Amino acid sequence: MQKQYYNRSRQPKKKSSLRIFIFLFLLAAVAALAVFSLSQYMAVQTLQAKLNSLEERLGQVEEENKMLWQLHDDLYEENKRLREENKMLRSSTVIEHGNREINKVAITIDDGTSADLMHKTLDHLKNHNVKATLFPMGSWVEREPEAWQRAVKEGHELGNHTYSHAFLTTISEEKVKEELIRWEESVEEALGFAYKTLFFRPPGMDGFTSTQSNQKQRLMEIIGEKGMFTILWDVELVYALRNEVSTPERITQHVLDNARGGSIILLHFTENDIAALPSILTGLRARGLEPCSLSELLLADPEA
Ligand SMILES: [Zn+2]
Repeated sequence: MQKQYYNRSRQPKKKSSLRIFIFLFLLAAVAALAVFSLSQYMAVQTLQAKLNSLEERLGQVEEENKMLWQLHDDLYEENKRLREENKMLRSSTVIEHGNREINKVAITIDDGTSADLMHKTLDHLKNHNVKATLFPMGSWVEREPEAWQRAVKEGHELGNHTYSHAFLTTISEEKVKEELIRWEESVEEALGFAYKTLFFRPPGMDGFTSTQSNQKQRLMEIIGEKGMFTILWDVELVYALRNEVSTPERITQHVLDNARGGSIILLHFTENDIAALPSILTGLRARGLEPCSLSELLLADPEA
């Protein structure tokens, strides 16, 4: 009886521990699944939140993009208008001087045939800490590239004075355009980069004298189309002093007697003009006039 009981009690005990094992195993599996599902759920929630914020950001970016396009269109229109206005200005304006309210005077120097004189000029300008505007012929720039590289490196600006000092009314329109382009090409070649100038000065003033108004208008249009302003002067020596012996002293005196606020002074790369340059620069400053380049004069703010 006892044995039987023992046997009977052994059997169910074995079965029940297997059941417990299976139960625990299932329980663990369920728990693992639950943990896994929960973590997946959390991950999905986080992703969803990120997605939502990305969508929101996308909406903002699209809005910003729209605004930028609007700005782009506005600027494009404004730019177009300014370019047209600028073109009209360039082809209808001959600049002889700047604003008279400004105590600045532009130093412009034309032509040139000697590298020595050029370096002497650059030394004077450097010693007086003055930037000037130089109007060489393209053919000269081509011959003396180092001198012109130095000029630009030292902050001076160059203006177009044609390639060969051509008198514009004596050649065809095609030739005029060619002279302007050849100047640009020789300057680019000498400097090693494309140089953009806003200034043109007609050789010998040809086409721009008081009796040449017909030719003048057409020439100004061609020059305006090339993006340049025609620059003359209000103080010069060649015509003013032609009946005199123009020593450096006389040149200095003439310039200082005639220059006033906004003046554009025309000098040439000649021995006498360049010899007069230091005393001109000193004399202008003594009269409260600051010598400068054309850009510095024409862009100066009268209120400043
Ligand atoms: Zn000239």
